[in-house]
Amino acid sequence: MFDKLVLASNNAGKLKEFSALLAPLGVTVIPQGQLNVPECPEPHYTFLENALEKARHASHVTGLPALADDSGICVEVLGGKPGVLSARYAGEPKSDERNNAKLIEKLQGKANRRAWYYCVLVLVRHADDPQPLVADGMWYGEVQDTAAGEGGFGYDPYFYLPEFACTVAQLAAEDKNRVSHRGKAMQALQAKLRELA
Ligand code: IMP
Repeated sequence: MFDKLVLASNNAGKLKEFSALLAPLGVTVIPQGQLNVPECPEPHYTFLENALEKARHASHVTGLPALADDSGICVEVLGGKPGVLSARYAGEPKSDERNNAKLIEKLQGKANRRAWYYCVLVLVRHADDPQPLVADGMWYGEVQDTAAGEGGFGYDPYFYLPEFACTVAQLAAEDKNRVSHRGKAMQALQAKLRELA
């Protein structure tokens, strides 16, 4: 196995989470910004293609194995939207507040509030890796009309979890990490990496 990889993201929260995930396997995680990797476009219709593109790009520029993720919220009655556009649903500049306002507006008068968060992780051992490691996770909930809670980010204050009887923003961070789409994808990736080791 390799002993370091580049993370195709500059998000400090992700760096912390992925470092913790990979430390037990003896893998050091370096954010792509430290290696001067320019931001990669995400032009595709699927989370998987965007994550693969980001991982390949980071690996191509650095010559290192690379890990990328892509995630978002999909709403059943909107045919899976915002989907890959979740971060910029209401346009540029990215704004959680405007994204949430747009989503709530689109759902006015709709009884079906079923939605899910999705996360996919892609790890390439080199830029031309024919067999990228892929792991994903889903997390079901319902979009509610009013915000509740201070934790999390993005759509969390509006994402209600029937099994917890609260929104994601009202969950403790450890609980979210354990059961979230990202947490599930990470656990699945860790299992795949252990098989490789
Ligand atoms: P990215 O994969 O970090 O680019 O995230 C894509 C977008 O999906 C974020 O900007 C959020 O709008 C949304 N998103 C992804 N995961 C979460 C989450 O755990 N909570 C709330 N929003 C999320």
